[in-house]
Amino acid sequence: MRCAPTSETKALSETKSPIRRFSGFRWEDTDLLAYKDEGSAPFKAITRQTLFRRSDLHGELRYFEMAPGGYSTLERHEHVHAVLILRGAGECLVGGEVHKISTNDLVTIEPMTWHQFRANAGVPMGFLCMVNAERDKPQLPSEEERRVLEADPKVAAFLKG
Ligand code: MN
Repeated sequence: MRCAPTSETKALSETKSPIRRFSGFRWEDTDLLAYKDEGSAPFKAITRQTLFRRSDLHGELRYFEMAPGGYSTLERHEHVHAVLILRGAGECLVGGEVHKISTNDLVTIEPMTWHQFRANAGVPMGFLCMVNAERDKPQLPSEEERRVLEADPKVAAFLKG
């Protein structure tokens, strides 16, 4: 049934919808962005969509997706991440441990913990990542810090890809 819009329903229909629909792991009215600036840090075959950013909530919700073989940057920082795997499977390094991950797993990254995500299961892997809107810049490992991580053969194999 269709009704002629009253001034109130018209006003409502002109306000931005609170819903952004999702199709093919793309959200409408949402830019598909580079993961980071090219050359700023090592990463491969990963894109970013910022789904939500509110200063009053002090938070951001982003969706990252990696093609098979893709990976995020090996990094650490003071801010925490809550990462929910939304699609696919792969592995993540958290601290000194490698974990197999798949759809619906929730990964907490504590402050100053080395972490990296890899879509190394032959399928795309996508995840939501919740962070502070205002946050410190990620740090990359020094050669010495990388050597310490690679002392564990499982970590070395993960980092080698
Ligand atoms: Mn991070």
